[in-house]
Amino acid sequence: MQIVLHGARGSTAAPGADFLRVGGNTSCVAITPQGYEAPTLLLDAGSGLSSVSRVLDGAAYRGDILLTHLHWDHVQGLPFFRAGDRDDAEVRLMLPAQCEASPDRPGSAAELLARAMSPPHFPIGPDGLRGNWTFDAIDAGSFTAGGCTVTAVEVPHKGGRTFGFRIEADGASLAYLPDHHPALSYAPGLKLAQGVDVLCHGGMFADSERAIAHAYGHATLGETHRLAREAGVGRLVLIHHAPSRTDDEVDALARQLPTDQLPVEIGREGDVVLG
Ligand SMILES: [Zn+2]
Ligand SMILES: [Zn+2]
Repeated sequence: MQIVLHGARGSTAAPGADFLRVGGNTSCVAITPQGYEAPTLLLDAGSGLSSVSRVLDGAAYRGDILLTHLHWDHVQGLPFFRAGDRDDAEVRLMLPAQCEASPDRPGSAAELLARAMSPPHFPIGPDGLRGNWTFDAIDAGSFTAGGCTVTAVEVPHKGGRTFGFRIEADGASLAYLPDHHPALSYAPGLKLAQGVDVLCHGGMFADSERAIAHAYGHATLGETHRLAREAGVGRLVLIHHAPSRTDDEVDALARQLPTDQLPVEIGREGDVVLG
């Protein structure tokens, strides 16, 4: 499978010349399994979702979207997803069951999304997207999506139920944990990432910023590195970079990590991290 980062920024978009190398768009990853011409599975729907439309080059999106959680930086690209907002689009969006949204209540996932995306906060609700959209609230577990085997695990974060995803296809594997607070509960993330080829993990905070990292439900870089080593991952790709951190500052932060035990990369918008 091919895995492309379309948004590598956390919390809020970061436009401007100081942010161009890493990219300013928020969380979105596109996955294309072998045998497919275009992405069939998207992880998160941050502002990076816009560039998936450009990849599709005039075609409609037909596939699945998995949301780790409902914070703004993971959903705000939805209303601007041109390839999904057209009559011939076919999209199944899945989000973690929580609040009143549950797998046994059809329509409840769309209602939950509409808390942030509906008038007067926004001109349209989820039901205003053209095409054939379905919105499902899902529980943790294993299932197939976009031609890939997905394992969804609940992981600690702050402010709503959050999943991490393990994606397997074509003999390759990815663990995706953009927003994760392993200091609160270590085992779920460790198990999810066990032996994956690539771990894409939030890299927002230095160890010197531990207090604020934990206050917002995130890991420090040292905690992320420890998890990656103990899980025996092939490569660690840092994503969900702090919106205030310039390109040079992101580089400097990553240089704090040792690279002799494990390859560490800075995830940048447009990077093909696998395939
Ligand atoms: Zn986030
Ligand atoms: Zn979050």
